[in-house]
Amino acid sequence: MEKIKMTTPLVEMDGDEMTRILWAMIKDKLILPFVDLKTEYYDLSLLHRNETKDQVTVDAANATKKYGVAVKCATITPNKQRMEEYPQLTEMWKSPNGTIRSILDGTVFRTPICIDAIKPVVKNWKKPITIARHAYGDVYKSVDFVTEKPGTCTMTFKSDDGTEEKTVTVQKTDGPTVWQGAHNKDKSIRSFARSCFQYALDTKQDLWFSTKDTIAKVYDGEFKKIFEEEFEGYKAKFEELGITYFYTLIDDAVARVIRSQGGYIWACKNYDGDVMSDMVSTAFGSLAMMTSVLVAPDGTTEYEAAHGTVTKHYYKHLKGEKTSTNSMATIFAWSGALRKRGELDGLAGLADYANKLEEACFDALNAGIMTKDLVGLVEPGFEARAVNSEEFLDAIAERLAKKLG
Ligand code: NAP
Ligand code: MG
Repeated sequence: MEKIKMTTPLVEMDGDEMTRILWAMIKDKLILPFVDLKTEYYDLSLLHRNETKDQVTVDAANATKKYGVAVKCATITPNKQRMEEYPQLTEMWKSPNGTIRSILDGTVFRTPICIDAIKPVVKNWKKPITIARHAYGDVYKSVDFVTEKPGTCTMTFKSDDGTEEKTVTVQKTDGPTVWQGAHNKDKSIRSFARSCFQYALDTKQDLWFSTKDTIAKVYDGEFKKIFEEEFEGYKAKFEELGITYFYTLIDDAVARVIRSQGGYIWACKNYDGDVMSDMVSTAFGSLAMMTSVLVAPDGTTEYEAAHGTVTKHYYKHLKGEKTSTNSMATIFAWSGALRKRGELDGLAGLADYANKLEEACFDALNAGIMTKDLVGLVEPGFEARAVNSEEFLDAIAERLAKKLG
């Protein structure tokens, strides 16, 4: 069989621990035998980030901007404990995902991979629900303090050039009080809106957006207004695809989400997205079945798994023990990226390969071949067999080879 050709390279960001092991296995078993893979490779493993003083992360993000599509392996974000584990680290390097997100000015979209044998906790959910979380500002960049005495708190803005000044009384208080000052930037909200509209077009799904603008009339009202303004630029394309943009109050959104069948993108403000993404992902089943896509306002896209480096499994692997680590989300990161590359470059064969790779994954799972984490989640009566990390990939490879003739 002739291998499927690529024209533009895909930005490939390798990572750490168990997911790095899976990464190499996925390439060897599922991609390289079928695709003449063209990537620009960046090693984002912790020690290589350390050696390059984290320049490699910045370079990888810039390459993503240049080529438009990237696939990323999970990486360690060092903390105190990691600093002890890796004494050679010269700095507690920042989260690579944070660095890449800020360079691309992107929004993260998380989508569960659903199979019939694992029913969501919410029984009417038939299709995945994608959560888009705005990742800048509000309570995450707020300042707060506690005061003891009766008094008045005011909030003042002064422009650098002295031409704009505003003061409001936050509250006059009669005793101990806790205060908070939060902000968001027009530019960030606008980028968030564009990434959401862009991703809705890419995935041909309706976009929902919710805030609490009946209470935070100015603050959340600004979000609502900016989304409406930005939507003007996408309206025609939405109509063409027959998808809709729908704004509603967060309370109403929560009720509708629970009663819905799924199959749309739900855009949330920073805090709402933090909370709702945990709720939705738990209700759908497993973190190991959750994909994560970073989308920039200009459509630049980076695909990855939502889970981390699966440290515990890695230590078992190092001891020579067999692991049963679920590679679904990492495989779907690759298929997502290759499909996108195929669509951008007009390579129908590459996009078709990506679809078949995903079908082969579903075929293996539907045949009851799964990793341990999923076996415990299947419906009663469904016969599932726990296999190890490698056997799972082999089962997919076998099915993929058949599909590709
Ligand atoms: P984790 O790697 O997601 O793993 C937590 C636990 O979830 C695992 O121990 C495992 O449970 C289960 N799990 C996660 N993914 C799985 C998979 N694919 N197959 C089977 N089970 C899976 O989270 P963590 O242990 O909190 O973090 C480990 C490292 O990952 C940290 O250094 C963190 O900085 C990094 N991290 C990176 C990213 C990223 O790059 N996007 C995201 C999150 C965390 P059992 O042990 O019970 O089997
Ligand atoms: Mg959370």
